[in-house]
Amino acid sequence: MVFIIDSLTLGSCELQCKVCMQTFICTTSEVKCREHAEAKHPKADVYACFPHLKK
Ligand SMILES: [Zn+2]
Repeated sequence: MVFIIDSLTLGSCELQCKVCMQTFICTTSEVKCREHAEAKHPKADVYACFPHLKK
């Protein structure tokens, strides 16, 4: 049961870069997401990597 709870918690607490599919914990700040996008995908829009940042 503990494992099931843990997997659910992790599953709902995860961010994923939509370009390279790298995952980040949900507490990753917007700044860190932007840094990832700029470092790894300079040609891609940050919102292409992390659509959740778009308000
Ligand atoms: Zn990426």
